Amino acid sequence: MERVGFIGLGIMGKPMALHLLPAGYPLTVFNRSQGAQNELIAAGATSAASPKDVAAVSDVVITMLPDSPDVEQVVLGKGGVLEGLHSGGLVIDMSTVLPSLARAIHDRAQQKGCTALDAPVSGGQVGAQNATLSIMVGGSVPAFERAKPILEKMGKNIVHVGEAGAGQVTKAANQIVVAVTIAAVSEAFVLAAKAHVNPSKVRDALLGGFAHSRILDLHGSRMLQRRFQPGFKTTLHRKDMAIVLNTARELGLALPVSAAVAELMNALIANGGGELDHSALVTVFEKLGNLELTPPSS
Ligand code: NAP
Repeated sequence: MERVGFIGLGIMGKPMALHLLPAGYPLTVFNRSQGAQNELIAAGATSAASPKDVAAVSDVVITMLPDSPDVEQVVLGKGGVLEGLHSGGLVIDMSTVLPSLARAIHDRAQQKGCTALDAPVSGGQVGAQNATLSIMVGGSVPAFERAKPILEKMGKNIVHVGEAGAGQVTKAANQIVVAVTIAAVSEAFVLAAKAHVNPSKVRDALLGGFAHSRILDLHGSRMLQRRFQPGFKTTLHRKDMAIVLNTARELGLALPVSAAVAELMNALIANGGGELDHSALVTVFEKLGNLELTPPSS
């Protein structure tokens, strides 16, 4: 079996890495802080002292890190993955980063006789825990076929979208839909509350019709229950909207709705909500409307 390395054991990375052990993959892990690493070691993984050391004992290295500069440092930087990986090795970056970085990693890997895939995910913490992530993959077909048995331990809907960077473009498209839908659900609930109509009943009614969505269901429930512990941190979604808008700018494309929702996320962060789940965007709309949604029980 391929020896797998896993770097970045946060909300997503830890449960994803844990799924590889029962499948029998020899697993070496690295995380910046020690806590999550200990849990993996207790479950049967080995730890290494640096990304380079992980790569030196792995055939396939997976990264699950917050942002483009983190991935750039860990994969391309000094003491990074590509310094340790042997010829023929495969790097799979599952973080959400700039498509241009995915293409740079692909090129640098090729120069070393290695291959790379960008394989960002959708499905959140619950999808990571239940191994039901949707995984959108960019890179060559042979690299995809090689990675597929490993990715199948973490996800269900695994789609090869196109060449290097195509996975990250797909993820950017995904984040537009999620962000705009969160804003739409927020506006719908605030409208209902201002009109003295119970937003919880509105959610119940809308879930049976054309406005149904998982975001109305799951994040609508979070909004009404005030369950804003992450989940997916607002700072990370704001980072993704920067990827969306930077990529659009490179393409000479205007995305006015994405830009507006990104500004609303900025407002949430400015009000101290950066570490809250992105469903807390509803609180910005509440401030604009001078009201607060009340939990269904009250
Ligand atoms: P997270 O909980 O913040 O975890 C990030 C992990 O990366 C932490 O373990 C952190 O270590 C480690 N790390 C950060 N910078 C590092 C560096 N420079 N070198 C080495 N390790 C570093 O983030 P997450 O929610 O798991 O998200 C990871 C990626 O998945 C992001 O790109 C995010 O956009 C994407 N994503 C997240 C979700 C979600 O629902 N959470 C869903 C889909 C996609 P420490 O423990 O030391 O902080």
